[in-house]
Order: sequence, then C-alpha cells, then structure tokens
Amino acid sequence: MSENLISVSYLGAAALFILALGGLKNNESARRGNLYGIIGMTIAVLVTISAFVTKNYNVLIVVMAGGGALGFVLSRRVQMMQMPELVAILHSLVGLAAVLIGYANFLDTSIQLVGVEKTIHEIEIYIGVGIGAMTFTGSIIAYGKLSGMIGGQPMLLPARHWLNLAMLIGVIVVGIEFVGAETHGDAEMMLIIMTLITLAFGIHMVAAIGGADMPVVISMLNSYSGWAAAATGFMLSNDLLIVTGALVGSSGAILSYIMCRAMNRNFISVIAGGFGTASGTSSASSFAEEGDVTTIDIAETAQLLKTAKEVMVVPGYGMAMAQAQHAISDIAKSLINKGVNVRFGIHPVAGRMPGHMNVLLAEAKVPYDIVFEMDEVNDDFPNIDVSIIIGANDTVNPSALDDENSPIAGMPVLEVWKGEITIVLKRGMAAGYAGVDNPLFVKENTRMLFGDAKESLDHLYKAL
Ligand code: NDP
Repeated sequence: MSENLISVSYLGAAALFILALGGLKNNESARRGNLYGIIGMTIAVLVTISAFVTKNYNVLIVVMAGGGALGFVLSRRVQMMQMPELVAILHSLVGLAAVLIGYANFLDTSIQLVGVEKTIHEIEIYIGVGIGAMTFTGSIIAYGKLSGMIGGQPMLLPARHWLNLAMLIGVIVVGIEFVGAETHGDAEMMLIIMTLITLAFGIHMVAAIGGADMPVVISMLNSYSGWAAAATGFMLSNDLLIVTGALVGSSGAILSYIMCRAMNRNFISVIAGGFGTASGTSSASSFAEEGDVTTIDIAETAQLLKTAKEVMVVPGYGMAMAQAQHAISDIAKSLINKGVNVRFGIHPVAGRMPGHMNVLLAEAKVPYDIVFEMDEVNDDFPNIDVSIIIGANDTVNPSALDDENSPIAGMPVLEVWKGEITIVLKRGMAAGYAGVDNPLFVKENTRMLFGDAKESLDHLYKAL
C-alpha cells in the first residue's frame, strides 16, 4: 500500500474519530457519533493490517477472531448496570497492551537506533510501559470497587503521600539509569523495576480513592488509557495511534475536570484520596431507623401524583439496580398525557459511570427534552409539587450543603427537599455509595416508599 494512501486513510479515520466525539456530545447525535467511530476504526484496522502486517497473518487472524468472539459474547451478556465495571476492565486491557508492546519493542533487536534517536525511543518505551502498568492495575482495582468485590472505602496507609512521592522519585531515578544503562541486560532490569513500581502505584492510587470520588477515577483511568495508547503510537511510529490516544487522553482529562467541578473537588485532592472518611460518617442505621421516618403507600403516592401539576423524577444508582427505567418511563408518559409537567433531573455523578442515568432513560425511550442536567432544574424545586427519588441517595443528600463536617461537604446536590413533597423509593435505610447518612429521609416533607423500585413503580403504574 502506498505511503500516500496510508496517510489519507489515517487522516480520514482521525477526522471520523473527532466527528465521533462531537456526536457523543448529546443524546440525539450519539448514535451518529458511534457510527462515525465504527467506520473510522474499521478503516484504521484494515489499513494498518494491509500496510504493516507483512508476515504471521495466521497468528493475527487467530488472535483477532478470539478477541472478537470474546468481545461479542461479553457485550451481549453484560447487563446495563454492569457497564461501569466493563468499562473499567476494558481500560485495564489498554494498559496491559501498552506494557506488552513496550516490552516487545524493547526486546526487538531488529530496531537498531543510535544517539538521540535511541534515547528518544527508550524514553517512549519507558513512559508507555509506566503509564500502561499504572492504568492496568488501577483499572483492576476500580473494577473491584465498582463490582463490589472490594469495599468502596478508601484504603489509607500511614504516610501514603510520602509513599506516592517515593514511588515517583523512584520511577525518575530508575528512568535515568534505564536510559544511561551500559548493557541491554542492565536496561532490562531497570525496566522491570519501574514496571513493578508503577504496578504498585496504580493499586495504591485507586485503592486510596474512596466513596463519591470514584467517578473522577473512572474518567481519569479513561484518560490514562488514552495516553498509554498515544505512547504506544510513538513507540510504533504510528501517527493514527498517537492522534487517537491523544483524543481519548484529552477527552478523558476534560471529563475528569467536569466531574471534579460537579463534585466541587479539585483534582489534586481527588488523587490524594481519602474522600468520604472525615468524621461524621456512620452507617445509616446509627442515624435513623425505619421507624423514624414517615412512610407512604402506593395508593397515597398515586393520589399525590394525580393531583400534582409539576413532577420531578430524580433517578440514582438504585434505578439501575432495580432496572426500573421502563416502569418510570411508562408512568411519566401516562402523567404527561394527563397534563402533568414531568421532568427528570440528573445529577452528574448519579449511578456508577458518567452518563449512566441518561443511557438507561434513553434505553427506556424517555423523551430527551424532559431530561435535564442538575444545574438546569435545581432552582425550580420550590415550584415542584412532587419529587420522586428512585434509588438516589448521595446525590440528594442535604448534608453536603448544610453540614460542613459531612464527608461529602461541598458537593452540589439536587435540592429536592425544597419541593412540596419528596417521595423516596428505596428498599431500606442503607446508605449510598459514599456511606454517608442522609437527613433527607427524616425531613418533614419526605415520604419513604420502601421496596424494590421496579416493583413499587409497577404497582404505582397500575394504581394510576
Ligand atoms: P447511591 O449510591 O448514593 O445510592 C443508591 C441507593 O439505591 C442506595 O441507597 C440503595 O438503598 C438504593 N437501591 C439499591 N437497590 C435498589 C433497588 N433495587 N430498589 C430501590 N432502591 C435501591 O446513588 P446515587 O446515584 O445517588 O449516587 C451515586 C454515588 O456513586 C455517588 O456517591 C457517586 O459519587 C458514586 N459513584 C458515581 C460514579 C459515576 O461515574 N456516576 C462512579 C463511581 C461512584 P437501599 O439499599 O436501601 O435500597
């Protein structure tokens, strides 16, 4: 394949990736954005294979068929609520790929570079392997935390900041030794030491981040996986991989920034970890028991909704757990048909991944024009007759605003308690992901509708 054809195809694929990102900006254009991404990736893979793979086609075919089949089976099997874990584990594979390609490049004796070119190539390998290793283990820990295999609380080792600093200095010192090593064997030893340090760093960094800071971790690991891919692009001198990696890296970084802003946290303190551990945290049971709250039944809830003019639905992780999106979609449509103004208010970190609620509501065909971001509706709560909170907890917790000792103090939340009546659908008094008490449940104008959210909403639909 000619150089020109490769360059033009790569340019086209890069443009399609940019259009894909642009498309993902909102729900209406997301499908089109995905299509651009699929076409771009197909071009990228086909051109790369036919231009650069000159031998061992058999290995490539076996590996691609195996990987493709695995991806196909996984994506068909995965439940919508397992998406966050799936995304985390896929990030780990990008990191692992960067590590393996780095080692393959290092061990490839056919690459004979000298002088500055050699040094630059070694630095590319070193950085690629380092970011890849950190992304690999960090994503595995994130997977464990999101799937509940590892507790959500931050792991706070004594002198953890010093430990991080020591690892950073270690990586720099070993890197200098690596580039200046006299023999290939010495350099290999340095590369292995650095890999071990960065593997440990990935574990420590994500393990130390807890509770409500996890959304930033997901987007941060997304960003790292992009930079790992870009570093791989440098190692392989592949322009498209550099561009694609940089697009993923920078969009992940922007998303991390947006998530930090949504939670009123700064990036450095997120990385330093420990959010959700300040004094004041306790289990919900020590704070309020079911007996301390005012409950409501299905018939009363239906009655309230029938007489309401303004209804706000606030979904959270519990809606995903219960798979209650279709049930609330039906209820919303039936209320809209009766002339009620129904809106959905979405907190930026509701659920377990950025955009989690939007994806579920889109799946249940809730019209996009009644789904709003937190900032668009938060001032309207004083005009709301009934708010329905479906399995949301941390994102509607007033202590974030009222209690400066609260572990989530300062995080903006949906101020549902300012409406006339708030109905909370959840199974019991358990705390949310951040493990923080929620005084909303004992407020005078709050009514608890206990039970699985889907079951409650199915009954409610019938009652309506
Ligand atoms: P929370 O995690 O705060 O609360 C979810 C609530 O849902 C629980 O209190 C639980 O109570 C209830 N629930 C669980 N299952 C059901 C069910 N079947 N039916 C009814 N209720 C149910 O959810 P939020 O969405 O409000 O907050 C998200 C949290 O997750 C934040 O702390 C956020 O920082 C964090 N996070 C967000 C990520 C993101 O990217 N969006 C990523 C990682 C973490 P009960 O058991 O009593 O029913």
